[in-house]
Order: sequence, then structure tokens, then C-alpha cells
Amino acid sequence: MATPDLVKLVKDAQRQGAEMLLKMARRAAIKHVRKQGVRRNLFDSAEVADLAANLATSMAVADLLGRVKMRRRAKKNPLVVMFAVASSVQIAAPEDAVAYFLRLVPSLDVDAERFGEFYERQAFTLAQSINEEMTARVQDAISKAIRSGISTADATADIDAILDAGGISPTNPQYGEMVFRTNAMDAYNSGHYAEARAPDLAPSFPVWQYVGIRDGRQGKDHEPKFDRYYPAAAPFAEVRGNRPFNCRCTFRWVFIDEWDDLQKQGFRVETSW
Ligand SMILES: [Zn+2]
Repeated sequence: MATPDLVKLVKDAQRQGAEMLLKMARRAAIKHVRKQGVRRNLFDSAEVADLAANLATSMAVADLLGRVKMRRRAKKNPLVVMFAVASSVQIAAPEDAVAYFLRLVPSLDVDAERFGEFYERQAFTLAQSINEEMTARVQDAISKAIRSGISTADATADIDAILDAGGISPTNPQYGEMVFRTNAMDAYNSGHYAEARAPDLAPSFPVWQYVGIRDGRQGKDHEPKFDRYYPAAAPFAEVRGNRPFNCRCTFRWVFIDEWDDLQKQGFRVETSW
């Protein structure tokens, strides 16, 4: 019985989204270089809609993965039924993602319609801010190229160098990758948080523990929270605080029996954050 590699599914969705963003940026940048700069926005409304659709799918899949992981941890739950599924899964929209994951784990606490709408709305707002950010980056790179006396023809030929400078080229895809990775990570965390708050699971998970990566790259603003325990009612996103970018923090739910043991060892739940 084949178990689908859900982590791979999430990574694939992110990679596809980031690649699409690079292709879109390249196409739009060529158009704008010919016009000697970006007059308005880099992407038109159809392109923003495309980008939003990709982001919505990538975030929805990550959120659902966070939920499935929670259900799998709650082993005592008899409703968790795993289905064998084909390894090649085509997920094109949040609705597809919900339908797919609900077949996998029917006990997931999601309202498919509201879930889809939520991520479509989130993704649209996000796509608009990405448009602004990328417009600024491409505009800046084009202005620099023009100021240094490069002809429009040369600039068009050298479009990758322009995009490279903006962190949005195939050799320097930092910005695009960060956008997809950060938002998928946020969605994963919010799904993982929300699922344990479902009425059937909430009594079993009274607290969660903040998990950070101490490798020298951790942010000083998030580090003080590492390893601490927080009450279930406090959403992870609220405790973590602002600055989702370049954040690799996550958390783990603590089962009630483990929490009893931890309390006997002297661990306490945080009351402020
Ligand atoms: Zn962090």
C-alpha cells in the first residue's frame, strides 16, 4: 500500500510556484525594458491572478499537510484512515487539495468551501504585494542598466543580469523562493495549529512547544521563545510575532500525558509572550 509523500507534494507545489514567478518576471521585464522602464506594475491583472492561483494552491497544500501531521500524531483517534493513492497527484486549486486530503484523512476539521475561499483571498492580497515588490526591484535594475549607458537592445539581451540583480533570476531565485517557502511554512504552521484545536483533539493537547533551529542563523527576536511551552489557546503565529520572513520556527503539540510528566519535572506554561 503506497503512502503518498506529502512533504514532496508540498515542496513540488512551492517549486512550481517559484519557477512560474521567475518565468513571469522574465517575460514582463523584457516587455518593460523595451519601454525603458516599468510604467505601472510589472504584472498585469491576468498575471496577478495566475500568481495568486499558484500561491493559493501552495499554501493550501502546506496547511493541509500540517493538519494531516496532527491527525497522525493523535494516534488514538479511530477516524484516521489512510488510503492508498497514486503517487502522481495533480492539485491545481485549494479545492482540489482539500478534496484530496479529505480522502486521505476524512477526519480533518476543514470546511472545504471556507478553506478554499480563505486561501484564495489570502493569495490574492499576497500576489498584489509581490507585484509591488517585484515592480520596484525590476524598475531599479532597469534604471541602473540604463544609467550605466547600456542600450535597450543590450539590456534586453542581458535581461537575466537585470533579474539577477533583483534576486528574481534562475541563477539567483532567492526572492521568488523565499516568497513561496515563507508562505507555505506559515500555512503549514497555521494548519498544524488549527487542527489540534478541533473539538475532538483539543482536550488531548493542552500546550505546544516552540521549536527553533539554533544554527547561528536564528533571529534574536525569536530565539528567546525556543523550547518554551505555550497554552493551546495561544496561536503559534501570535506568539512568534511579526517577521515571518526568513523565519524557520515551528512548534510541536504536547500530548496531555507528556505534559503531566513535564510539569512533574518542573516545566511550566508561559503566561505572556
Ligand atoms: Zn523564527
